[in-house]
Amino acid sequence: MKRRDFLSLTGKVGATAALGFTSWRALAQTAATATPPAASATSAELLARAAAWHAQCLTLDTHVDAPLVMLRPGFDLGRRYDPAADLSQVDLPRMREGGADAAFFAVYMAQGARTSAGHAESKAKAHQLFDVIHKGVSSHPEAAILATEPDDLLRAAQKENRAIFIGMENAWPLGTDLSLVETYYQRGARYITLCHMLNNEVCDASTDTEKPNEHGGLSPFGEQVVREMNRLGIMVDVSHTSDATFDDCLRLSRAPIIASHSSCRTLCNHPRNLTDDQLRALRDCGGVAHMTMFNAYVAPVIEAPSAPPPWPNCAPASADANSARPNKSNAARP
Ligand SMILES: [Zn+2]
Repeated sequence: MKRRDFLSLTGKVGATAALGFTSWRALAQTAATATPPAASATSAELLARAAAWHAQCLTLDTHVDAPLVMLRPGFDLGRRYDPAADLSQVDLPRMREGGADAAFFAVYMAQGARTSAGHAESKAKAHQLFDVIHKGVSSHPEAAILATEPDDLLRAAQKENRAIFIGMENAWPLGTDLSLVETYYQRGARYITLCHMLNNEVCDASTDTEKPNEHGGLSPFGEQVVREMNRLGIMVDVSHTSDATFDDCLRLSRAPIIASHSSCRTLCNHPRNLTDDQLRALRDCGGVAHMTMFNAYVAPVIEAPSAPPPWPNCAPASADANSARPNKSNAARP
């Protein structure tokens, strides 16, 4: 499939709450119909093949933590940084060089106090992150646009610009105020990852060892949040949620749900990852899962089969794949 064909396919579908699904469905179809490489292909040949395929595709990274770096005084999204010097992983020049057409920049924060003060603090921090994204993108109209619907991605691609969407990771900044869902929608959020590593007022997380199954999945407030997200056109993101929360979202949401950054539990036995049944359920509801390229969530794939698992919580899958629980010291993990 040529890039032009891909664009026309997504263009026909138009703007829906299922932002991005059509893009990835088209990519999957492209992969499925491609001629498989010869078994004798060398690494160089495989890389060349992958690079050629990548160049034809419209690519979307659904979870980028660039805004945390953008908070640094003087950071300029339009300048090329050196990750070895400053740990900066994303800027517009490198997105262009790497063939990344679009990305969801994350309004992310680790779970904090579930109190009035904590919720006020998280709300202020969320607005600060929205501000820095808006300012960073609007400072470079020649290179990027702030995107809020699928057509924005197409318009950006036609101008060889980057399309920067916004996703919110962790519904903590909602506190218990349903009206804030629309507030964040107005600020550009087009998905909300319902939690991070610990439970919040919306739902149970997959990795909260102190309060496992606190709500039994979505809380009553969380159910309201999902309905409100459906009404507005904000995607429900189940990355980080518990299995029960995943099931509740699947049952409740009228639009496809997504996992913006989750890997495969069969390959890496971590509760943060998705089971095969969950991946099939996502497929069947029209959703997608994007992988997290973080060692702890994919390590057994890249380790020699005979090597011991480098992380105790990431052993190869076994019969009790759903019972593993990681240590709680994971606040900084993606
Ligand atoms: Zn994350």
